Amino acid sequence: MRSTMQDVQLTLGSVLKHGTTVHRDSEVVTATADGVRSMSYNDLGRRSAQLANALRSLGVVGDQRVGTFQWNNTEHLMAYLAVPSMGAVLHTLNIRLFPEQLVYIANHAEDQVVIVDDSLVPLLARHVGEFETVHTVLVAGPEAAAADLDALGASGKQVLVLDELLDSQAEDFDWPDVDERDAAAMCYTSGTTGNPKGVVYSHRSAWLHSEMVTTGNVAGMSYRDRVLPIVPMFHANSWGLSYAALMSGASLCMPDRWLQAEPLVRFILESQPTLSGAVPTVWNDVLGYLDDHPEVKLDSIRKILCGGSAVPVSLQKALAERHDITILQAWGMTETSPVATAAGVPLGVEEGSEEAWRFLGSQGRVQCGVEARITADDGSELPSDGEAVGEVEVRGPWVTAGYYESDDPEVAAKFNDGWLRTGDVGHLDPLGYITLTDRAKDVIKSGGEWISSVDLENALMGHPAVKEAAVIGIPDEKWQERPLASVVVREGQSVTAEELREHLLRDFAKWQLPDAWAFIDEVPRTSVGKFDKKVIRKWYADGEIE
Ligand code: ADP
Repeated sequence: MRSTMQDVQLTLGSVLKHGTTVHRDSEVVTATADGVRSMSYNDLGRRSAQLANALRSLGVVGDQRVGTFQWNNTEHLMAYLAVPSMGAVLHTLNIRLFPEQLVYIANHAEDQVVIVDDSLVPLLARHVGEFETVHTVLVAGPEAAAADLDALGASGKQVLVLDELLDSQAEDFDWPDVDERDAAAMCYTSGTTGNPKGVVYSHRSAWLHSEMVTTGNVAGMSYRDRVLPIVPMFHANSWGLSYAALMSGASLCMPDRWLQAEPLVRFILESQPTLSGAVPTVWNDVLGYLDDHPEVKLDSIRKILCGGSAVPVSLQKALAERHDITILQAWGMTETSPVATAAGVPLGVEEGSEEAWRFLGSQGRVQCGVEARITADDGSELPSDGEAVGEVEVRGPWVTAGYYESDDPEVAAKFNDGWLRTGDVGHLDPLGYITLTDRAKDVIKSGGEWISSVDLENALMGHPAVKEAAVIGIPDEKWQERPLASVVVREGQSVTAEELREHLLRDFAKWQLPDAWAFIDEVPRTSVGKFDKKVIRKWYADGEIE
């Protein structure tokens, strides 16, 4: 029997319409050098229609790709809304990618137009000449007219100032009917081998994923909230926070390029967000700032989402106990839109107890729509008993089933009978909580036993003198591999390897302790701000650390 329900498509056009009409009184606030600028969702709707008209006038038709090279700000949000809603495909370019990867992905996706922030013009100007299919660059932001447009123009592309172009456009647009399974946006994963691989989101996947982000088990977002996405819109859709805000009517506070602790805290005080999302390193910096400035209170924030790499319990405890800020850990990847889990405390477990912290320190509980399982090396399923450790596999309506026109021969190996192999290693308990012990490529195999680099890092970062720690496996004749800990000591503090070994002995057996220690100035980061262990391995191989 078929249902009697109306067959309405889940499209981002409906999110644009709902957010900018029903929630016309909400606003998007963007940080500037000396304050903020704001726009109501009502005006955002009109501006987005003007952007769609402008893109049509530039010849963007069908599912052509429009690239963005932007921070989190009002203009990027307009592209998020207008581009998919007009039937085209939003391609967020990661501004931190290595140049050859950036050129590769713009060409692979065949971007036609690129929207660039005024502040990023010098960076884009260096590479845009190699973007073969791009014919027009639109420069966005309050300083666009003053940017070095000639540098962009030297590439032979047409260069226009976005605001000037939009002013001449009609304020309504005949939004087309779009099939919910059609492409809405794409994002390339940085990838550890070969070229970056494109993940293509559909309207439906973005809709379902963003709706899930609004729910009580994740952000718990309503039109009484103000949301600060610090996680970049060019990285995994800023965890769906932008669309989630338009869906629930929450206002958005956009930090633009002011991502250091000091300007960020200033922006938080000025824009008063209730929810936020960023990787642990950002919150670690904010924690340091708050500890140094006890007079500053971030009272408006109710909850912050944190993920992208393991969120140390020590960081969660410090923010909760010293600054009354609750962190909710979430886990996912570009391939999973990205949010797949979020870590709350189950009913019946006393808040603040050690057991509660164990749940909060896990990667979280699988959200409805996503299924997870753990598999052994041979691909067979292991029990979800909270003990058996293996690779985490997931499937669901916002999990990718492949990559966009990839020629990487290893792609097939990323899937197991329709499940995505995440490359993350951990266990799953009967309540659906995933706990990661490592990424497959980071696991340290010592004498046939596994040592979790993540556990060691978390414990080290729990030491008061340690700012950051990254642990890698180094070759060992007898044991095959042994752990090397690279440690960044907090400013004004000191600690020895012997003291850190003592500290670790509380939670680890002797054979699990790092044999080698390197005290470094900072942990190298990938283009998306995560610890880059490849670089540390290279330092070791080159004899720069030992
Ligand atoms: P990459 O880092 O490979 O470029 P993504 O940005 O998509 O790609 O990151 C996905 C990976 O980030 C996951 O597979 C996982 O290893 C890691 N990750 C994300 N969230 C968490 C978390 N809460 N705890 C531990 N690791 C996480």
